[in-house]
Amino acid sequence: MIDLIAFNWPVFAGLLGLCIGSFLNVVIHRLPKIMEREWQGQCAELRGETPEEAPTFDLSRPRSHCPACGHQIRARENIPVISYLFLRGRCAGCGSSISPRYPLIELVTGLFSAFAAWYFGFTWPAFGALILIWSLIALAAIDFDTQLLPDSITLPLLWIGLAFNISHVFTDLSSAVLGVMLGYLALWSVFWAFKLATGKEGMGYGDFKLLAALGAWLGWQMLPVIILLSSIVGAAVGIALIVFARHGRNIPIPFGPYLAAAGLIALFWGRELTQTYLGLLA
Ligand SMILES: [Zn+2]
Repeated sequence: MIDLIAFNWPVFAGLLGLCIGSFLNVVIHRLPKIMEREWQGQCAELRGETPEEAPTFDLSRPRSHCPACGHQIRARENIPVISYLFLRGRCAGCGSSISPRYPLIELVTGLFSAFAAWYFGFTWPAFGALILIWSLIALAAIDFDTQLLPDSITLPLLWIGLAFNISHVFTDLSSAVLGVMLGYLALWSVFWAFKLATGKEGMGYGDFKLLAALGAWLGWQMLPVIILLSSIVGAAVGIALIVFARHGRNIPIPFGPYLAAAGLIALFWGRELTQTYLGLLA
């Protein structure tokens, strides 16, 4: 069995990625709602009210259903990408259209997983890369939707990155620990400098934790490239939104998706980029 998986590793990882992508859709959709319910419960408790009994809502219950008509998604309507194409993007119950984002997230997760398997081979770095890729996709989409980077993803991601590097999977342990500290501090200082200068908050604490987690996985040496890439893309998209889409200057633009994208680029090409960048400076 292991031989079979190892032999077809990129194909296997790609198929696994499609299924994980389907699960990530659930996480992206439900985790912010679960957090909101928890906060409401805590607020009610603080006000001395007894929180009202609500029906169970977690990652597995209730079963997935159409938001328009409540039609429960059957197993054969839940096959990543294929079901979407087969149903022509419409609910089997009421025919209302399903967002193309669901198959898109499945496809992106599948492609990145296959690429990581091909790039790293059947090795420990490949397993680590898969965990990192899946978490970053979930974080980017949740931040895009809600401007939140849940601690329940960023913090475990940080510990898992450190754990992998105990045996020097992506970098040595001291580079990883420094990566956590400097990653957090770098954005924390930008946040406070920006806040003292303009009185506005340009990013959130979730961004610091995400960069700290990337530092844990890739080491402090990758931080400049990650910050540079995410700022360039973030600034370009931000300016384009303000100019073309008349996006208000004061509406916050989530930074997490750019950090996540830059983290993925650094995972595969960080070394080359750092060398090129240092070469340009010298
Ligand atoms: Zn429906």
